[in-house]
Amino acid sequence: KGIDEWIDLDKRHFIHPTSSLKQQQTEGAAHIFTKGKDIYLYDINGKKFIDAMSSLWNVNIGHGREELAKAAFEQMSKLAFSSCFSTFSNEPAIELAEKLASITQGDLNAVFFTSGGSEANDTAYKLVRHYWILKGEKARKKIISRTKSYHGVALGATSATGLKPFRDFTNSLAPDFCYTDHLSAKSLRDVIEKEGPETVAAFIAEPVQGAGGVHIASPNYFAEVRKICDEYRILFIADEVITGFGRTGTYFGMEHYGIVPDIVCFAKGVTSGYAQLGGVILSKSLHEQLIELSTDTLFHGYTYSGHPAACAVALKNIEIIERENLIDNAEKMGKELLKGLKQLELTRGIVGATRSLGLMGAIEFVKHKESNEQFEKPIAPLIVKEALAKGLICRAVVFDSQDTIVLAPPLTINENEIEKIIEIIDDILITFEKK
Ligand code: PLP
Repeated sequence: KGIDEWIDLDKRHFIHPTSSLKQQQTEGAAHIFTKGKDIYLYDINGKKFIDAMSSLWNVNIGHGREELAKAAFEQMSKLAFSSCFSTFSNEPAIELAEKLASITQGDLNAVFFTSGGSEANDTAYKLVRHYWILKGEKARKKIISRTKSYHGVALGATSATGLKPFRDFTNSLAPDFCYTDHLSAKSLRDVIEKEGPETVAAFIAEPVQGAGGVHIASPNYFAEVRKICDEYRILFIADEVITGFGRTGTYFGMEHYGIVPDIVCFAKGVTSGYAQLGGVILSKSLHEQLIELSTDTLFHGYTYSGHPAACAVALKNIEIIERENLIDNAEKMGKELLKGLKQLELTRGIVGATRSLGLMGAIEFVKHKESNEQFEKPIAPLIVKEALAKGLICRAVVFDSQDTIVLAPPLTINENEIEKIIEIIDDILITFEKK
């Protein structure tokens, strides 16, 4: 097929996720990617891009890893799929569950598998509510999440998401979700008091907010939040869908804050996107209480919970993360990224602020640095477009009146490649300043 035919078929038959349907019709698919290698993607025209978003914050080990293809091939050739319902099981799922228990903090210990992050979040909400039913505290059903949070697009996950446009997309959200300010522990206490502590099941937070614009809590925020949750007997869910598997320079994001959640949601980096997999890790104590108190079937399970091929891919992915010391690299390269971002902040008048942790970074734009005045219309989307033209993939965040671009390159990135990213952005900013 020629490029025009691909674009035409795309317009007619493929509804893109998180997209403007009008833009797809007027502009057509801007890039049809056909190949990936390391931190690079190649489109159908052979144009090369630095994938500075690891696609969707998930291709942690970089593109084009044949080892993962082989792991999938071998597992699929042996046993592509079998059910894990009831008492059935399979070797890769068991091995992966054990591995996850061993790499997570504290007593995080038992895993329920899903196919992605949204399902992981919905699973967490249902499991904590089920837990409170079993404990005889049926009224504990509210889930508190943070402003600017993103937890996915399943109905529960959308309802927990703090970014309003995702919630406003539908006219009927799931009940019993409420929101607290994303950076203030006091606000959490206020919301709990207002809602009634005996009605709250759990609090959920991303260690670093990703889709909402890379917002990093103060160093003691999560310790305070953990204390508040304990005080009111509220379960603490960490949504590590982006921050898990080395993204921030530690295995899991909450390690930066020295706290152990009761539940961890994971997806993305567990397979680096080579297969669809997510899940929920429960603390030993929570798991044991569920076993002890349960009297009936656990009426929650996806067809693909514990998919053998996806689990085999995850095991190989984790093996590579460890063998190549990619978490250390993320930490080291994170420092380089931070340096580059601070340089931009220092030298470019339209950079109001920058922030990063490991390999998650953000650049905020302002019209005048001194007054922090914003542009009438956000310039981040224009900068992203310009970056694409120059072969760099990054992402604009304009929710909640933000004017920001975010970066999350693969954990395999080296110093020269970070420099290159900063250089491309700097070039674009110089041109914008002149305009
Ligand atoms: N949670 C967080 C923090 C995410 O960033 C995402 C996706 O970006 C999700 C949940 C949803 O995951 P998925 O898109 O795999 O359903």
